[in-house]
Amino acid sequence: MSNGDPKCELCHGRGALDLPPDENGIPRTQRCECVLIRDVVRNVERGWKKLIRAPVLNGPSPLTENEAKDLWVTASMGMLQTHLRHVAVRMGPDWGFKVVTDSDLMVAWLANASMKGERIFDPEAQAPVSQEVMTLVDLMDPPELLIIRLGVKSARNAAMNEVFLEALTHRAHAGKPTWIVDSPQQPLGEGHLCWSYAVSEFLVNWTRVNLGVSPEEFLANSFTPASDLSLTPTGNGANTGGTKRVTVPGIETPTTKDRWSKKKQ
Ligand SMILES: [Zn+2]
Repeated sequence: MSNGDPKCELCHGRGALDLPPDENGIPRTQRCECVLIRDVVRNVERGWKKLIRAPVLNGPSPLTENEAKDLWVTASMGMLQTHLRHVAVRMGPDWGFKVVTDSDLMVAWLANASMKGERIFDPEAQAPVSQEVMTLVDLMDPPELLIIRLGVKSARNAAMNEVFLEALTHRAHAGKPTWIVDSPQQPLGEGHLCWSYAVSEFLVNWTRVNLGVSPEEFLANSFTPASDLSLTPTGNGANTGGTKRVTVPGIETPTTKDRWSKKKQ
């Protein structure tokens, strides 16, 4: 167990709190709040850099409870970050989510191709491909939930939709959930670099979620602001393995319209 904050009044720097022994008399501990907050922040940053700095969502998110399902999300970058942050801080320090882009998939696929000595026709791959670049399988296999942001790849590559489909098929075969995220400006449809008839066929039964482009629009259409944002610890999944939903005091603060407005460009 990692060290806690020496000034913490709960654990005095130990980082752990004792729980009553289990039924076999084995002593148990759980992460102290001070460690939990730090570990959750680290995990959110691991999944997507700077995600922790996204504005706090003032209300529930339709992404919640869908962590184990395939989802087709349409959202602006800002709305995706706000909603994903909301989910990630509640899923706790051990949630294995990872956000990648269609461009990352392509780079990983190109790395495979280059290792096999194939000629590469991709303007974004003019620089030599490093052997350290992850292969497509390295990228797709580990995450508990893989989130693929579409529309980041800009240079045309005829293989993009095939690589995307390969990623989706691979995840489905492994029995692992995937969220794909397109934007209102660049919907996944005809003309999109990732689109093909085969892709649209694959996605035909996926649940779709529209988060819109701005908090105001989202709140106006979907939810009324929650009044129960007081967060108290309710068992934080320490020493139990696996992912548990948590509430993390200190990470979430009540938001106001002002906070949203400040964030808008
Ligand atoms: Zn502590």
